[in-house]
Amino acid sequence: MTLEPATRVDSVPPSGIRRFFELAEEMDDIISLGVGEPDFSAPWAAREAAIASLERGRTSYTANRGKRELRERIADYEAATHGLQYDPDEEILVTAGASEGLDLAFRALLNPGDTVAIAQPCYVSYVPGATFAGVDVVDVPTRAEDEFKLTREVLESTGAADADALVYCYPNNPTGATMTGDEIAEVAAFCRENDLVVFADEIYADLTYEHEHTSIASLPGMRERTVVFNGFSKAFAMTGFRLGYAMAPPEAIEAMNRIHQYSMLSAPTTAQYAAIEALDNCRDEVTEMAAQYDRRRKYVLTRFEEMGIDCFPAAGAFYAFPECPWDDADEFAEALLQEKRVALVPGSAFGAGGAGHLRVSYATGLSDLKEAMARIESFIE
Ligand code: PMP
Repeated sequence: MTLEPATRVDSVPPSGIRRFFELAEEMDDIISLGVGEPDFSAPWAAREAAIASLERGRTSYTANRGKRELRERIADYEAATHGLQYDPDEEILVTAGASEGLDLAFRALLNPGDTVAIAQPCYVSYVPGATFAGVDVVDVPTRAEDEFKLTREVLESTGAADADALVYCYPNNPTGATMTGDEIAEVAAFCRENDLVVFADEIYADLTYEHEHTSIASLPGMRERTVVFNGFSKAFAMTGFRLGYAMAPPEAIEAMNRIHQYSMLSAPTTAQYAAIEALDNCRDEVTEMAAQYDRRRKYVLTRFEEMGIDCFPAAGAFYAFPECPWDDADEFAEALLQEKRVALVPGSAFGAGGAGHLRVSYATGLSDLKEAMARIESFIE
């Protein structure tokens, strides 16, 4: 026996995003529109609550499922903002980021050999998470002509009906696409008809600019077949705190906690104190950050239009997903980085359906954004 990676680990390539960051790190004067995290610091009150918890010596593990106080706040928050009713004792699990929740769901709720349909382009962790759990993946590439929404037609044509589970995320990373309540209802009907469970990544739920977010779990007949993932990384700009949560019926949360209690014990304690404060007192900051993202979004969309670059009006998260002016978006991204020092990520890094597009993150201050857009304009000229 040697310390070689196990086969299922070896079969997963390194993240396509990473190569760009490595290249970018070696260069000066880079403007990065490549990052998938807020450029804001966490709200001060949340940081202060973290500091205070440390000063008071609150440095032990918490309950496996997370501090009850926090689970209560999460239940209230989700009821008020997304119309979801989950019991803090049995139906909420506090995790080390939404990422941990997703990983737990793949391993705790699916068996090796089960099939999961993954709507793509998508966050880079879903396919590896499924693979690590021994679960087979059906690619469900959404289409530019549908503005990267998930449609019944796409689900049907890709064979998703035969899968055991569906993973999707709206507002979406990398496209910034959102789906209306009616559009989500179509997906819900498809899942009920074909008996699929749903893993709904709602981490960007509070970053929508044209219409309110609809949680699939709030639709008739969906709560019992859905796990919802959310967290503090995006809307609250708390990525480094590593705090998220999963919500689902008791049996599912119990199964996920079965792994979590052995592998993680409990989510970071300091972060849980910060999160309680965030939910109690930092909603105004979320609104203010969302307003700034929206200003930047409009600016970016207008600039692409001026440049004659096709870009659907993404209405959520902090990404635009323009069509690449060159045939090969990987080559374009690399040349733009080398020649103009602007980093963005080719859509192919996010799986099926992403090729030929570029992910442009506007989690960057407006002055940098202006300079980056000017550089892109001079590059394509
Ligand atoms: N889901 C999506 C769609 C994301 O974009 C990200 C972060 N880039 C995550 C989950 C991970 O979130 P967390 O920090 O809560 O693990």
